[in-house]
Amino acid sequence: MTEPLVLKVRPEDNVAVAVRALPAGTEALPGVAVRQEIPQAHKIALRDLAAGEAVVRYGVVLGYARDAIPAGSWIGEDMLSLPQPPGLDELPYGTDIRPVSGLPEPTRSTWMGYRNRTGPAGTRNLLGIVTTVQCAAGVVEAAAERIKRELLPQYPHVEGVVAVNHPYGCGVAIHGRDARMPIRAVANLIRHPNFGGERMVVGLGCEKLTYDMLLPPEEITPENVLTLQDCAGYDAMMEALMSMAERKLRRLDRRRREELPLSELLIGMQCGGSDAFSGLTANPSAGYAADMLVRGGATVLFSEVTEVRDGVHFLAARCRDAAVRDRLAAEMRWYDRYLEAGGVDRDANPTPGNKQGGLANIVEKAMGSIAKSGSAPIEEVLGPAERPSRRGLIYAATPASDIVCGPCQLASGIGLQVFMTGRGTPYGLAAAPVIKVSSRNELKAHWPDIIDLNAGGIATGEASIASVGTELFELILDVASGVKRPYSEQYGLHNSICIFNPAPIT
Ligand code: CA
Repeated sequence: MTEPLVLKVRPEDNVAVAVRALPAGTEALPGVAVRQEIPQAHKIALRDLAAGEAVVRYGVVLGYARDAIPAGSWIGEDMLSLPQPPGLDELPYGTDIRPVSGLPEPTRSTWMGYRNRTGPAGTRNLLGIVTTVQCAAGVVEAAAERIKRELLPQYPHVEGVVAVNHPYGCGVAIHGRDARMPIRAVANLIRHPNFGGERMVVGLGCEKLTYDMLLPPEEITPENVLTLQDCAGYDAMMEALMSMAERKLRRLDRRRREELPLSELLIGMQCGGSDAFSGLTANPSAGYAADMLVRGGATVLFSEVTEVRDGVHFLAARCRDAAVRDRLAAEMRWYDRYLEAGGVDRDANPTPGNKQGGLANIVEKAMGSIAKSGSAPIEEVLGPAERPSRRGLIYAATPASDIVCGPCQLASGIGLQVFMTGRGTPYGLAAAPVIKVSSRNELKAHWPDIIDLNAGGIATGEASIASVGTELFELILDVASGVKRPYSEQYGLHNSICIFNPAPIT
């Protein structure tokens, strides 16, 4: 197969994306000569565009030409004005519901996980230590290191110790309207499926976030919670934490993986450092894998509000019922107001790297981003850090920031995250493995030992969305089953737990 020079997504598109840098004079398509060099992943006008005319990619208006753009021109971000986002009132729903039986058939129907009493199964067997307040973080971090060194080797079936330190807990308006989000995040992180039902919660003693806001009364026991101010000095704190950990490790060490149906699996997807290939290669192949998982009965979350806002009408069409559509619109409205309070709109999202990667604005980024959701119906919409109550494809509203979306999805209970990138990031999470998928061959060649799977061959005609999507589906099950470990997990690359706190800090 010969490599195409440009990629056009829909017949009605009047721009296409350069597969590699195209020098001036190249015939990009029959009759379309390149007027000036087009950088890789950037857009070229396929015909003359008048001032004010819509610039269309993915069959969607990315923006309006500020001035006339002759055919063959490079289209830079400053040449487009941003369209209005789709309205949120009375969005049609349920008009694009595909039967689950029509999704691509999964190549495997089981995986090996750690069954939990309730909720999804674990992909790892970890001791999780969660703080109620950042003040306790230093002690918990030191204790976690000591537990790993002195205790963990005696419990070979426990795969790690994770200190869940976060910036919340005190110095905050704990009764603020939106404080429910960070409180819910900490409460749900405590009961992450990879922590095997064991609770180990460490507080300081004078903070605002108290145990009763995080745990049911029957779980607030000396075995599960420790207050540092009750301990007579540092050595006493360490001793108490070591003996608490030892009791938990003994129980966790009895856990074994067992063959489970895909319905016991809950995973999340997000992208970070996207480029104009993300929506053609990495994200559609993730969407294909998501469709296979959903058809097999698994639960898949996708998120990132600013990166779906411009495609909300496409998502509403896939909402199972009016209640799901209403919740989707409500989450979008909340975020519109949150951004407005900060004096910005959704176009504050794209980064300098996104723009260098050819993404002109948030509309173009969003059209690529929603491709990761595949084509299954949306069964439920969640607020940040909420737990799903249904199976299948779920939209979990979170910020798009990689380091905030990750902890939100962890709190929602994901056992694994798939992370698509075009620019490259070494991102990882301690509590769940992260698989990284590149959008371009060049990124995989540059970072062969960080990128787990390359979808770039889809752009160059060496691979298809179905072939990479199937490979990703297999990799997800192998990583979830502990058979394979993605690079970020092998190296221990773990980002901080930046939970989302839109409420005031005092
Ligand atoms: Ca992101």
